[in-house]
Amino acid sequence: MAEADCLFCKIAKGEVPAEIVREGERTLAFRDINPQAPTHVLVIPREHHPDAASAAAAGTGLVDEVVTEAHAVAEAEGVAGTGYRLVFNTGSGAGQTVFHLHAHVLGGRGLNWPPG
Ligand code: IMP
Repeated sequence: MAEADCLFCKIAKGEVPAEIVREGERTLAFRDINPQAPTHVLVIPREHHPDAASAAAAGTGLVDEVVTEAHAVAEAEGVAGTGYRLVFNTGSGAGQTVFHLHAHVLGGRGLNWPPG
């Protein structure tokens, strides 16, 4: 199911260009257009879900797949060994701007805690 005005649905369908780093049957990984770290990749399900919680509640298994794909991206980018951050911004108050489930894979530099 795709949402007509959803940017990440359009990327998943190839209607908007993206620098794709990994493709799965049900997932896609591409570089963030405004990277916040040397590695900053977004992993999405091809199917539209507004956020991780709603995808999990739907019982699709997609959140597991997104996390598995995110780790594969981190390994391919060479940041899995040193550590990377996996972020699901959920809700506008937390900084979510695109309401299609996506995991940020951030690595390649020191990452502070707590985040900003
Ligand atoms: P959010 O703030 O957690 O919703 O993350 C959305 C992310 O999508 C931001 O980090 C944006 O930089 C990124 N983004 C927005 N448009 C594009 C695009 O066309 N290609 C790749 N990344 C994008």
